[in-house]
Amino acid sequence: MMQKSRLKHLQILPTLSCNMNCDYCYIKFAPMTQINYKMSNDTVDLIVESIRQKKLQLSDNATITFLGGEVTLCPEIIDRFFIKLHDNLKKNKYIINIQTNGLEISSLIEILRKFKDILPQINITISIDGFEKIHDFYRKDKNGNGTFKRIQKNLIMLLRLLHPSKITIQSTLTNKTKNIHNFIKTFHSYGITKFQLVPVITPPSLSHMRIKPTNYLDEYIKVIDYYFECLKKENPFTEDLISHYLYRILSLTNILTNPTNFPENICPIGVSVLAIDPKGYVYPCSMFVGFKDYCLGRIDNIDKTKVENIVRKVIQGRRKYCRNCKLINICDHGCVARNLIEKSDIAIFPKEYCSIKRNIILYIIKKLSSILPNLNPYFQHIEKELSLQYL
Ligand code: SF4
Ligand code: SF4
Repeated sequence: MMQKSRLKHLQILPTLSCNMNCDYCYIKFAPMTQINYKMSNDTVDLIVESIRQKKLQLSDNATITFLGGEVTLCPEIIDRFFIKLHDNLKKNKYIINIQTNGLEISSLIEILRKFKDILPQINITISIDGFEKIHDFYRKDKNGNGTFKRIQKNLIMLLRLLHPSKITIQSTLTNKTKNIHNFIKTFHSYGITKFQLVPVITPPSLSHMRIKPTNYLDEYIKVIDYYFECLKKENPFTEDLISHYLYRILSLTNILTNPTNFPENICPIGVSVLAIDPKGYVYPCSMFVGFKDYCLGRIDNIDKTKVENIVRKVIQGRRKYCRNCKLINICDHGCVARNLIEKSDIAIFPKEYCSIKRNIILYIIKKLSSILPNLNPYFQHIEKELSLQYL
């Protein structure tokens, strides 16, 4: 499986240390032993050589994401990557994504100024959970102070340097999330068009921080309404889950004459996504870093059988759980790392999110039908069968 597939997404974690101390931080509960470790030059060089020599087979236009911990704590590592991989970055048009908490960005700005020629390929993802009161509830600095104001100021600085389309705001949804659509509206008015809403993943001991499934649905319905409102005004934005569902719905409509050709909708971990930790160990994605059983070996010696076993287990779990569902080709089935952290098993999909997903998909289909009246009757059939529970 590994030999046939090319990586579409490589995640590099230069460090797991951070200048913030968020209450729900996944690094606190992942069984890690190397929080203060920074990636060595040797590991950087090994990753670069593995990409150059195609031992790590990246597809053209693949995304290389730098994340942590907090990447702005080790600008020298990103700098080394950019210098050593410069020709390949340009030739293969890799997309570079730097994921930051946005608290201190002077080192990031220096990098952006230094590598002007690859600037069009660089995107920044910045984590903000909502307006000040909501964001500051969980996202604090090391002294326990809120971080919203400093991050907002830094975001405005970044907007002077980068086109707003190069910036994504990632918001973690928690039990404190409220009216996230108004937050999106405000930042959309700054010109930002890319948003990601990610329900917090916590172990059972911190389950009170999770967003309640009904709130999750309510929040998404309001975001979907705003999404279609903006689409009508020709001022669109994207949100990852909505984009995923729209893509699947529209693709399915177009190819319905031959639905067997529709690619299976599975989590790409280990197949088209891999993550590399600060010591050069490889995992199926960044959320697995520190879970020993999911370590796939060193960059130069990836255990392909282990990858295949993980992927097989996920597919079997999903097929078992979702086999009779009409939405199997549209639904994303949820995050596999969430299964591991919340249910201690990658193949157990949290049932509580299932009806929410159905309702979100059905609501998108309903909104889409209002602007595309000729939407395939297949969807009308789905609507009828599942009944619109959100009404
Ligand atoms: S910014 Fe990210 S890595 Fe840092 S403490 Fe918060 S959740 Fe953890
Ligand atoms: S809605 Fe539930 S059963 Fe249907 S595909 Fe999604 S996760 Fe599976």
